[in-house]
Amino acid sequence: MGLPAKRRTKQSKRERAAHFALTAASTTQCPKCKHAILPHRVCQNCGYYRGKDVLHLKERDERAAKRKKRKDKQEADK
Ligand SMILES: [Zn+2]
Repeated sequence: MGLPAKRRTKQSKRERAAHFALTAASTTQCPKCKHAILPHRVCQNCGYYRGKDVLHLKERDERAAKRKKRKDKQEADK
């Protein structure tokens, strides 16, 4: 492993660390459901981006419910 040629002073270490602070992520509001969202990202609450339904969350939920119903019925028939 490489060894540093010179000791880093406390000051130079702290000067470098001055830029390490984290900042809170900026959020905007979803125009459809008013949920807080990250800018330029699909809304995770309603699945819309720029006025278009891109995640089809409603259809997905309906399909999952149908699948669950079918599975429950199969379980009951056993
Ligand atoms: Zn939304």
